[in-house]
This record gives sequence, C-alpha cells and structure tokens, in this order.
Amino acid sequence: MTARPVLVLNAGSSSLKYAVVRPDTGETLLGEHLERLGTDDVGAALDRVVAGLAAAGIAADDLAAVGHRVVHGGDRFVAPTLVDDAVLDGLEALVPLAPLHNPPAIAGVRHALAAYPGLPQVAVFDTAYFADLPAAAATYALDREVTARLSVRRYGMHGISHEHVAGRAAAFLGRPVEELDQVVLHLGNGASAAAISGGRPVETSMGLTPLEGLVMGTRGGDVDPGVLLHLLRVGGLSVADLDDLLHHRSGLQGLSGRQDFRDLLAAVDGGDADAALAYEVCCHRLRKYVGAYLAVLGGADVVTFTAGIGENVPRVRADVLAGLEQLGIHLDATRNQVRGGPARISADDSAVTVLVVPTDEELSIARQVVALVGVSRP
Ligand code: ADP
Repeated sequence: MTARPVLVLNAGSSSLKYAVVRPDTGETLLGEHLERLGTDDVGAALDRVVAGLAAAGIAADDLAAVGHRVVHGGDRFVAPTLVDDAVLDGLEALVPLAPLHNPPAIAGVRHALAAYPGLPQVAVFDTAYFADLPAAAATYALDREVTARLSVRRYGMHGISHEHVAGRAAAFLGRPVEELDQVVLHLGNGASAAAISGGRPVETSMGLTPLEGLVMGTRGGDVDPGVLLHLLRVGGLSVADLDDLLHHRSGLQGLSGRQDFRDLLAAVDGGDADAALAYEVCCHRLRKYVGAYLAVLGGADVVTFTAGIGENVPRVRADVLAGLEQLGIHLDATRNQVRGGPARISADDSAVTVLVVPTDEELSIARQVVALVGVSRP
C-alpha cells in the first residue's frame, strides 16, 4: 500500500505555498505558489487550494494529514506538534516574537481546520531543529533579567531546510550524518548559515528573528545595534519605520533597488555600481560566516550550498569560496557549473568537500508529519 500524501501549507507574509507530497517516495502530486497575500487573504488562498485539490480528485479522505510550516516555535514548541485548541493558544502567544511570520501560519491552521475538520493538523517549526543550540551560541550578551523576562535568545530559523540538507548531503556522500562536521548555506530570499556537528546544529546565523545574519533579498542581516538607536534618536524613525526598513528596505533591495537575485545579476552585468556593491557585500558576509563556522567546528568535512541562489548561481559559490585553499577549500570550476544537484563541486584534492544539494522543505515537513501521526487513519 502506498502511503497517503500530506497536504503541506507554508503561509508566509506575502505568499502561500502548498504541496501535496507522498512522504515515502518524495513525489509531489500537486503544488503551487500563490503570491502577494496578506494575513487577511489566507482564507481566500486556502479556498483556492481546497478547490485545486478537489479538481485534481484529491479528497480529504485521501490525505494522511495537513502539515503547516510555522516559523517561530519559541521555547515551547521544539518538535512537530498536533494542533488542538491549547496549541492554537500557544501559537497566538508567540506572535509577539514573530509578528510578521506567525500570524499567516496561524490563519492557515485555522482555515485548514475548518476546511478539513477530520484531518490531523500538524505544526512543524522552523526553529525546532535549533532548540538545543549550545548556550554559548544561543545567548545574547545582554542583561539576563531582561532577556529572561522577554524570552530573548537566538532561536535560529530555516531549521527544516538545514536538517533536511545536512541529511541529504551525508546520504550523498554515503556517510552517517553523525560522523560529519558540516556548514550549510541556505541562500534563498531569506538566507541563513548553520554549523552542524554530528547531525546537531552548534551555530546558526538567524537569531531571535529572521533579521540577523546574512544579507538577504530585503533584509540586511547583521547590523551594529547602535545604528538602530541612531535611527530612532537622530533619524526620527518610528518603530514602525524601523520595522519596515529592516524587513523590506534593506539587503539587496536597500542597496540596489533589486531583491531578486536574477535581477541583481543582470544589473551587475549591465555595469550598475549599486548592484555590484550589493553583490560584494552579500558575498563578503557569506565568506565571513564560512570562516567563522569553520572555526566553530574546528574544520569541516562538508560545505553545502542550497536554496534558490545556492543551487543555481555558480558565481556566488565561486566568489564566496575563492582563495580559501589554506582552509582546505578548493572548488572545481567545471563541476561548479552544476545547477540543482546533489553534486560535488570541490576538486578531488580539496580537504573540505563542497556540495550543491537541493532543499525540499515540503518533503521534510511531510515526513515529520507522518512520523508523528502515521500514514493511515481509522
Ligand atoms: P524562498 O523559498 O526563500 O522564497 P528560493 O529558495 O526560491 O526562496 O530562492 C529565491 C532566490 O533564488 C531569488 O533571489 C531568485 O532570484 C534566486 N534564484 C532562483 N533561481 C535562480 C537562477 N537560476 N539564477 C539566479 N538566481 C536564482
């Protein structure tokens, strides 16, 4: 008997992605990316999902469960969780930690409960993989009374992807994940790095929120907190202005007016100086993180690129890792032309193996869901 598929929903602040995935084979039966939604239209988007499934002949009874990607699980949710009223209350209580990211996910859960009342609904958290991050990496060096009272620590995000890719990299190499020290670079619209030792993450670039770390499409990553004080005090920005600046008008967008990496590269090639600087800032930040994570791990066995940019842009991979031979990294220029993967792009004499591995957050969610609820229902 084939396993029943899982409907995976990923309701973000500006889009809803869905996929109907067979957890055993990894096959995607149906899927779509619905753009430009506010939290208010998650219900309308979900109506389209339900209609799409019905048109494809997929009824509630054909599904094992609905899996929901939830960005922030805080301290409370550190594993996939069957949603009930108490869990919904718990998710609502986390909204202050993730005001842009969690509300659409909660709306998605509520609408899916109404549309598929007989199906188990499972929340899978993007922070969960990092729940056991060593205290030295998870702790901000701020007044402990303040951070404890407000649950301020480094949680880390993109855990669904980092865990999946680290496992796939190990499988590709035919090695147990427990034996490998890995750096994973997830480079999409959002971007983050993780250092993973023996299958457990020991450092990651996102923090309390998805604003920390690498340069992203519209988020700038690391910034001196004094800059924010300066903008509030001297620049006269309101908290809402700052929120908008940090989430939507920074990163590649802020530096060059382009948030999509394809547009950025076209502008770089067209001689646009702002785009060239944005590209350099982005690659420089990545290189700093690679070096830092090699130090955190005491040297790595594997460095892996994944997500839209990591899987598709050889030149970023080459520019980030250029000149790191002393650190054991030596790319093969021809192998590095690969898109997608999984593939090895390092030279045979490279002490560190460099890979391109495609991420598949929907499949990872589907597998975590059936691990919790099983594939058959009474
Ligand atoms: P997310 O899942 O965070 O929305 P993705 O992982 O799909 O993001 O990555 C999106 C980014 O990848 C965009 O900046 C896009 O321009 C870039 N990207 C995807 N394919 C290519 C490509 N062939 N060349 C250059 N950039 C690409």
